[in-house]
Amino acid sequence: MFAGLAGNGRPGKGICRLAKETRTLPGMDSKDSGSLSARRKRTRDQVVAILAQHSSGLTRASLSRMTGLSASAISDCVSSLRSSGLVVESSSPLGNASGRGRRATVVSLVNDEGVVVGIDFGHAHVTAAAATTSGEVLHRCAGALDVDHRPGPAMDLAAELARECVARSGHGIDDVLGIAAGIPGPLDIRTQVVRPPTILADWVGLAPAAELARRLGHPVSIGNDADMGARGEQAYGAARGLEDFLYIKASHGIGAGIVIGGRPYRGATGMAGEIGHTQIPDAVNWCRCGSRGCLETVVSSTTVRRQLAHVLATHEDALADHAIPPLSELSDNPAAARVLGEAGRTVGRVLAGLVNCLNPSAVVLGGELGSAGEPFAAGIRDSVARYAQPASAQAAEVITGRLGAEAEVRGAIAAAVAATRRRLTGAGV
Ligand SMILES: [Zn+2]
Repeated sequence: MFAGLAGNGRPGKGICRLAKETRTLPGMDSKDSGSLSARRKRTRDQVVAILAQHSSGLTRASLSRMTGLSASAISDCVSSLRSSGLVVESSSPLGNASGRGRRATVVSLVNDEGVVVGIDFGHAHVTAAAATTSGEVLHRCAGALDVDHRPGPAMDLAAELARECVARSGHGIDDVLGIAAGIPGPLDIRTQVVRPPTILADWVGLAPAAELARRLGHPVSIGNDADMGARGEQAYGAARGLEDFLYIKASHGIGAGIVIGGRPYRGATGMAGEIGHTQIPDAVNWCRCGSRGCLETVVSSTTVRRQLAHVLATHEDALADHAIPPLSELSDNPAAARVLGEAGRTVGRVLAGLVNCLNPSAVVLGGELGSAGEPFAAGIRDSVARYAQPASAQAAEVITGRLGAEAEVRGAIAAAVAATRRRLTGAGV
C-alpha cells in the first residue's frame, strides 16, 4: 500500500517510517480506526486541519481554544494522534507563559519528507503546484489550453506540469505522497466518470482520475473545481474555521462549493452546486448545458467583460474584451462598478434561495468575477438581504475570498494532503 503510494516500490523516506509505526502501534490499526466514533473522527479532522495550518505547532491550550473543545477532549485526541505517529510534542520555544508549573509543549504534525501535488483545470488553463504536507507551495507552473474541448491534451499538459513543478521543488516523482485535481464541471462521484448530460461535452466518458494516474504512475483524487475552491479557502484562506459556508466560483461559469458541518456536500451523484444553470426569469438565451435562460447566460466573466467593453469605450476608441483590465482594478470606476454591481445582484438572487435552504454563516466569493471586489460583493449582499429570509440573510456574511485565482489549486493541495493522511491512518481525516 505504501510502496504503491511512492509509485515504484522504493521506500519513501519519512512516510515509510510513519507507515511502519502506524501499522504496529496499538490504537490505530484499521480495525480500531473503523471503530472510532463519529465524534472522535470529527475531532481528529478538526485538530489535524488546524495543525496543518500551523507548521510551527500549537499548545494544547491553543488547540482547545481554537476548536472550542474541552482540554480533556484535546488531550485524548493528541494522545491518539501521537500513538498513530501523526504528531509530535516538543518544548515550546517560549516556555510557559505564566512562568510557573510545567513547561508548555507544542503539538505539531510529523514533517513528512515528501511533497503533494495540486492540479487545477480551468476552462482555458491548467495549473499545477507542488507543496509540502503543511500546504506551503514550493513551486507552481501553468499552461494555456482549450481545456473544455481538448481533454486528452489537457491531461497530458497536467501530467507534464505536475512533473515539472515536482522537479523544480527539488523532489523526484518518488517523493510524491498524494495528488488531487479539480475539473471545471460535474463528475459522477459513483463512477468517477464524466457522464452525459454535461456542460463539458467533450469530456463525456472520460475518467480523469484514471487518466492522470496512468500518466503519473500515482493515484489521483478528483473533484469539482468549485469544491476545490471551497476547500482551499477553508484550509488556507477566508473560510478558515468555518463549518457551514458556500464558496462561489464566478468566472466563465458559475458554480458553488457547498460545505456543511465542515465537510464538502456533493449530493447523491456529485452534481450539487451547479447554480450557474438555475433559470433566471425572462432570460431566453440558450446555455451550453442545453437549457435556456440559465444564470450563466446572463452573468459570467465573458458577458461582464463584453458589457464593460461597451461601457468603458470612448467615442473615438472602441474597446476589445481582451483590453479590459483585471476586474479587481475597476472598483473605483463608477460605470464599471455599476456593471459589476448589477452582475452581483443577479447572482445574489439565485444565492438567496440557497441561503434560505442551507443557512450558511458565510458566502465566500472566488473566480474572476468573485475576486472583482466590493461592487460585485455589494450586489450579492443587496439581493441576499432582499430575497432571502431576514434571519438567514443576517447570518450569511458575504465576503471576497483571500486566495483569488489560487483558491482551486490550493484546494487541490489540501485534498491531496487529506488523501495522503487518510491512506496513512485509515482515518476520515
Ligand atoms: Zn445551463
